[in-house]
Amino acid sequence: MRAICETCAQPQPLDWRAGDLCVHCGLAVREEARCYWCAKWGPLAKFCRKCGAAAVAREHYGPARMLKHMGASVFEIPNLLAELDPELISTQQSIYGAHAAAANRHIEYARQLGESLYQKHWAAELEEELIPQLPWPDEKLAFYSNAPLSEASPFPLLSALAHLVRIQRGDFTELRHYAHLIHSANGGIAAEAALQFSGWRALYCVYIEINRHDLIAVLQVSPLPAHAAPRLAALGAEPRPEYFSTGDPDTDFLILILDQNTRALESFLDDNDPQRRYVAATQLVRFQQADGIGPALLRANHDQQLQILRDIIRYKSPIPALHDTFFALVENSPERRVRDAAAQAIALARLHTDSLRLIGLANGNHDMIHSLLRAKPAPETYMEMGRRLVHSGRFRMDQWGWDDAAKPDSMPVTFVEDNFPHSTPATRIELLRFAEKQIEAHGVARSPLERLLIRQCFANGPVELIGAAWACIHRIQMHREVGLTVPCDLSLENIGWCWSVPEILTAIAALMANPDAVEQTFVRDDFDRFLRSAEPEFFAAAAAYPDECRRVINAAPLADPYIYALRFAAELDHHYPVE
Ligand SMILES: [Zn+2]
Ligand SMILES: [Zn+2]
Repeated sequence: MRAICETCAQPQPLDWRAGDLCVHCGLAVREEARCYWCAKWGPLAKFCRKCGAAAVAREHYGPARMLKHMGASVFEIPNLLAELDPELISTQQSIYGAHAAAANRHIEYARQLGESLYQKHWAAELEEELIPQLPWPDEKLAFYSNAPLSEASPFPLLSALAHLVRIQRGDFTELRHYAHLIHSANGGIAAEAALQFSGWRALYCVYIEINRHDLIAVLQVSPLPAHAAPRLAALGAEPRPEYFSTGDPDTDFLILILDQNTRALESFLDDNDPQRRYVAATQLVRFQQADGIGPALLRANHDQQLQILRDIIRYKSPIPALHDTFFALVENSPERRVRDAAAQAIALARLHTDSLRLIGLANGNHDMIHSLLRAKPAPETYMEMGRRLVHSGRFRMDQWGWDDAAKPDSMPVTFVEDNFPHSTPATRIELLRFAEKQIEAHGVARSPLERLLIRQCFANGPVELIGAAWACIHRIQMHREVGLTVPCDLSLENIGWCWSVPEILTAIAALMANPDAVEQTFVRDDFDRFLRSAEPEFFAAAAAYPDECRRVINAAPLADPYIYALRFAAELDHHYPVE
């Protein structure tokens, strides 16, 4: 039985009783019956208004369908129903009942799916599709009796609805295959799909590859404008529609986001729904009100944690209130990308103690150290970070970020000198490379740092360290001006800056006597030019130090014969005081 309003044509609830007025408009309602012949609904009357068949008693609908199926004509059926053995009629009724039960199984499934969806007419729609087909041929009856109630339903309507319910619950894994539903020929499905594909889960939990303009076009003609309006606003439709709360938790959650209602969003940070917690947290980050998202961040899955942290990094909004949470992730997350992103979020704040705590936890992790360097901490933080890395043997110039740290207002210029004495030879090479970057970036001539680097060219030590010093100063001089002597001209002025005369003579003798050092890249040619650059005044001054001159003269043959050493020594000899 079904009852339809005479005025607004809306169906009445199942508990409607004869005489009740329309629940929608309050006007008169008429009872309707389905015609056994054409299966259409019509007012209770003697004949069907659609096909003219004579009405039969409601309890005879099933047997009448069976008689029609068996070949009885529209004129015979009322008489047969009156004349046939009641037992035969009840047998026909129970056969029809088996078909109706098989159909109702699917219709009931449509009703259940509708509970999760915005539109509720799905069961009625499927009923109108299936009931007129009854009775089915035997094989169809068998097939539909066992057909699955799931996304694998043989009825395209149920399959589509089942997928939309899945999306309504936040599972977007199969979305790609069902995105076309917004173009469905069934306008109800298209409208429902558009609502589900533009809800807060679709907008903020996944990257949904559906054209925004396609969604807007379907939402603009939605039969549910109250639910469509905030979605259109979120999609940026013009003109921006007005919207109001609807009582639906999903549509209203989207409205909270649109209204930037941070207090309400905070109340969802401990929601039972992980997606709702996650979206509340990401939106609070967006609105720069994220101090309270710590617990939600810890409860989120790795992908969500990563996304929230990356948002914080992208907005460049340090949140010191969350540093305890970030440290918990750095220390405990099994996911490396989460640890690194949490470290980056801490580094963002450029807090001295937290940066140092992070260096302690980095344990050689290049990404983490890079995060700290990239955040451009204060000079004293750079200094202490560098000191700790030197101390642990982890100061490496192939670490991204040290180039930037060499720029003015970053690492103090005393860093290399302070740390050089208590470093290993390998770290000293790294420190010289850092000095090179710092000298170039600062562009100050004759700095104490450059003096340190030049003195290292002649220092006692591993040949690699000597080679590194020459290579560093070589690159500096090349960048300054073509043809500059490396490490500098052997002038009295430079000697006054870097050495004393006896010191440089001793140093030259030592390098000449160290062919392995001379063999290092750049050293041979640069040393050669260095010796050639000696001014006559230098030789005159050297003559005052006969012991040191003698060392050079003795060492010269040990140097490679192609080097200028012998001529340099001969020149010294020439100036050598006659006793
Ligand atoms: Zn009405
Ligand atoms: Zn009819």
